[in-house]
Amino acid sequence: MNEEFLNKMKIYLQSEYEDYLKSLENEAYKGIRVNLLKTTPDELQEQLSIPLEKTPFSKEGFYIPSDEKLGKTIEHLQGLFYIQEPSATSVIEVLNVQNGDWVLDLCAAPGGKSTQIASKLKESGFLLSNEVVSSRANVLMMNMERCGISNAIITNSYPDELCEKIQGWFDKVLVDAPCSGEGMFKKKDQALIDWSQSHVESCAQRQIKILNSAYKTLKKEGVLVYSTCTYSMEENEMVVSEFLKNHPDMKQVSCDVEFGRDGFSYGYCDGSKVRRIFPMDKGEGHFIAKMIRLSEPLYSKKQILSSPVSYEAKLFLNEQLSLHDYNLIQIKNRVYLSKDSFINLDHIHVLREGILVGEVQKNRFEPNHHFYMSSYLRPFLCKTVDLNREECLSYLKGLTLNRPCEKGYVALLYRGNVIGFGKSDGTVIKNKFPKGLRI
Ligand code: SAM
Repeated sequence: MNEEFLNKMKIYLQSEYEDYLKSLENEAYKGIRVNLLKTTPDELQEQLSIPLEKTPFSKEGFYIPSDEKLGKTIEHLQGLFYIQEPSATSVIEVLNVQNGDWVLDLCAAPGGKSTQIASKLKESGFLLSNEVVSSRANVLMMNMERCGISNAIITNSYPDELCEKIQGWFDKVLVDAPCSGEGMFKKKDQALIDWSQSHVESCAQRQIKILNSAYKTLKKEGVLVYSTCTYSMEENEMVVSEFLKNHPDMKQVSCDVEFGRDGFSYGYCDGSKVRRIFPMDKGEGHFIAKMIRLSEPLYSKKQILSSPVSYEAKLFLNEQLSLHDYNLIQIKNRVYLSKDSFINLDHIHVLREGILVGEVQKNRFEPNHHFYMSSYLRPFLCKTVDLNREECLSYLKGLTLNRPCEKGYVALLYRGNVIGFGKSDGTVIKNKFPKGLRI
């Protein structure tokens, strides 16, 4: 094992160091978080055949047995829950998202915290989820789609470029920073062997840079939460201290939660106001600090995006939805729906804004999985077919369903929640479940 790393842990943990060493031998804590946009903890417990044990970190978070693999279950593919390390759910409790908030998640992939933010916003307000690495941004988009999120923009941009365009817009900003990941180590991991102090220090430099960008996007009284899944003071208290030193108009406030423990006081960072979670606190590890902006920011102007939309898309929506009050835009042949106005983020790579309804293709309209998965649109879907468990499993394998029903596109439900959609010719339903998701 890496002696230099362990020596640092000995200093941080003192009498608990031996407990930490034991935790490196154990299986990692495993958990799920219930997606409140689609279900409740009680309903989900009824549907899953495994015990769900509450965690101290969030009401929607539960421990699951470490050998459970739930990724290909119907309930996961329906977006009823998100598989998430239990202590990772703590951060959004500190962010304390309220109805109507404008929230920025600057380092968002694979989407654990963005989907949790959306589940707290309950279709109100607005979420901007950004991820700089494009392959990871695509995973973020798939998770947001699965969880049925409708009121978000997903971008793939460097924080400094993005933040220039969105100055002064946000009530809540999360920087869940890329870090050296010490909270993820287990005894035999290569990452533990490869650990180096110089990597920790380069992560700290990057974290300060990201925080400086995030600062610009806060409203006056806006809340900034900084979190990592690492233990080093260099990437935690020292980063917060450096940031506070450079921004005297930012005030550190208490995380105001019951779980975890105090951190260390260093420079401008008050250790009693941050939260640290070690494996001895029943999660793999997190650091959280909370700050508020006291000054008036510079504001970027919000520009609304509008565009004409093809007749085929409007016809499709009239047939499929009992809802008629929404905004539409079309970008090339793709049509998007939002209950609020579309925002124009000029020169920023936007992967998704609102709900992707589908694509106009040679005088016809091909709907997208996202349209049917959206929790906002679920009560307004007019054409639905209830599947039994066997039919649902066949659907997930990509098979055609022998099921007479009304002709055209239909939403397919299992126990009241959408699993996907198909196209019926009256007697069979052609499978439209995305190929990459099939089991
Ligand atoms: N918040 C995510 C969640 O809960 O699922 C986890 C975020 S992870 C800790 C940090 C993310 O920051 C990674 O997806 C990584 O690709 C991204 N990242 C890497 N370098 C970055 C940079 N220079 N600026 C912003 N984000 C970066």
